Amino acid sequence: MKEGRIVKIAGPLVVAEGLSGAKMYEVVYVGHERLMGEIIELKGDTASIQVYEETGGLGPGDPVYPSGAPLSVELGPGLLESIFDGIERPLDAIREKVGDFIERGVHVPALDREKKWHFIPVAKKGDEVTGGDPLGYVQETPLVKHIIMVPPDVEGVLEDIQEGEFTVTDTIAKIKKKDGEIHNAMMMQVWPVRKPRPYKEKLPPTIPMVTGQRVIDTFFPVAKGGTACVPGPFGSGKTVIQHQLAKWSDADIVVYIGCGERGNEMTDVLIEFPELKDPRSGKPLMNRTVLIANTSNMPVAAREASVYTGITIAEYFRDMGYTVALMADSTSRWAEAMREISGRLEEMPGEEGYPAYLAARVAQFYERAGRVRCLGSEDKEGALTVIGAVSPPGGDLQDPVVQATLRVVKVFWSLEAKLAYRRHFPAINWLTSYSLYRDTVKEYFDENVSKDFFELSTEAMKILEKEAELEEIVRLVGAESLSPQDQLLLEIARSIREDFLHQNAFHEVDTYASLKKQYLMLRNIMEWYKKASSLLSRGSDIKEIKQLDIWEKLARMKYYPESELNELEKLLKEIKDVTQPAKS
Ligand code: ADP
Repeated sequence: MKEGRIVKIAGPLVVAEGLSGAKMYEVVYVGHERLMGEIIELKGDTASIQVYEETGGLGPGDPVYPSGAPLSVELGPGLLESIFDGIERPLDAIREKVGDFIERGVHVPALDREKKWHFIPVAKKGDEVTGGDPLGYVQETPLVKHIIMVPPDVEGVLEDIQEGEFTVTDTIAKIKKKDGEIHNAMMMQVWPVRKPRPYKEKLPPTIPMVTGQRVIDTFFPVAKGGTACVPGPFGSGKTVIQHQLAKWSDADIVVYIGCGERGNEMTDVLIEFPELKDPRSGKPLMNRTVLIANTSNMPVAAREASVYTGITIAEYFRDMGYTVALMADSTSRWAEAMREISGRLEEMPGEEGYPAYLAARVAQFYERAGRVRCLGSEDKEGALTVIGAVSPPGGDLQDPVVQATLRVVKVFWSLEAKLAYRRHFPAINWLTSYSLYRDTVKEYFDENVSKDFFELSTEAMKILEKEAELEEIVRLVGAESLSPQDQLLLEIARSIREDFLHQNAFHEVDTYASLKKQYLMLRNIMEWYKKASSLLSRGSDIKEIKQLDIWEKLARMKYYPESELNELEKLLKEIKDVTQPAKS
């Protein structure tokens, strides 16, 4: 392959000639400083290259060197606890090398080449192994065993495997392939980011990813391997909900992609995330987290790459059989990067100037989510759940990025600043949010929580809808003019909102509720509705019913710790035993 010459520079885009033999999406090194870039359009031997670093100072005639490889990430021990930029450069290591401001043309490998890890084999000499099979593991952090797998495209017989201290590029095993060639397996794999990692088959999204957040699990659940979208207007409590999901979701690994949010917001993430604690172990949450950070002062092309870098890393942990939760914040910034580059390429613009392929790219990204049967000879399941935040200009949900996202994701958590101002947290609107997994996870709830859980939550949602319908009348003529039954419904709706949906992330107990607790809480409220209804129809006065201390007890349910859920059972009995009040 020949080196090329720059003929034109337009912001992050460089056009070069003479790159004969180059391929689409090949990585090239641009200019004397060898800035990293990627070929995104190829006409004959003229290549358009998006450059991942500032292009200032480059000039026509400067050299462009082919690399022969597509944009790839390094996968292996050392990913966890790391903070990378959009092209997987470790921010800490770069800072050590060049200081706070990332200079151009700095090449630091993603995974530390010096660090030794203790590799413990699980496979043994003579074993027949195939792609995805575990060779052994490294206890990468106190919380995560990093499974070292045979790379997807390798198959053969293990000739040799060693326990010991190794760097990620040392040979830990020798695999004799069918053609007799020896594959020297190392702990590090390299994988092109734009190519989804393979698996055996996709499995239906029938298991919920439990988050401990009642409005999510009970009303709008996301399945393991599912997709969800959340808008995040300023002040809506987006950061808190993201932290709650990262801390409490029953996921083994968290990958967080901070994609070009305002510089200082990203700094918040870089400061806050490393301080979060894993609530179950008390260890730093970073023990099972990978952070990808792209601030808006990093070039747009790197931002464009960051979602691919993140999702490839997430797939790699999925391949080990883990449940992975990936959060991308915000995918709108990613789409804007796409738009800018498309504009520079002078492509025909679509809606709002976004490229015509916007919807296809968004769909391809979310399609990489899934619950899968992993590659390899053993029967192993992994899941990758993708939660994408969108931040449309002015909060407009008709925005093309939001619309493209809503066409593919199955869950929409409608986070609203309006609710946050009213101090209703999490500020997820119960009327406009939805989850298409409600039906697919129903069986799981039937078997693992209770047969009537699904029914209760459906009824509760109906009550809230009815409340919204009645709101107008109440505004015009006051609640007193409603029928006693409707007045009761409004009280129950209030209880569902305040005692059930409202959840204080900062309260030691309330911050997390198991499915069992969620069920018991909702059941008590709904049981009380039934009971109070029947009291009404037997002639009791609504005013008296409103005075009963059951309401107060319903409001306190959320503060019972998981070890005292029998109190909720007791409350149920108490509700059933109410016989009064008679007419006043
Ligand atoms: P955003 O990131 O959308 O600007 P934050 O997530 O920082 O907003 O939330 C703003 C404030 O709202 C928080 O400081 C906190 O006081 C409150 N808040 C948000 N979510 C919750 C919650 N689940 N429970 C209690 N308070 C919350």
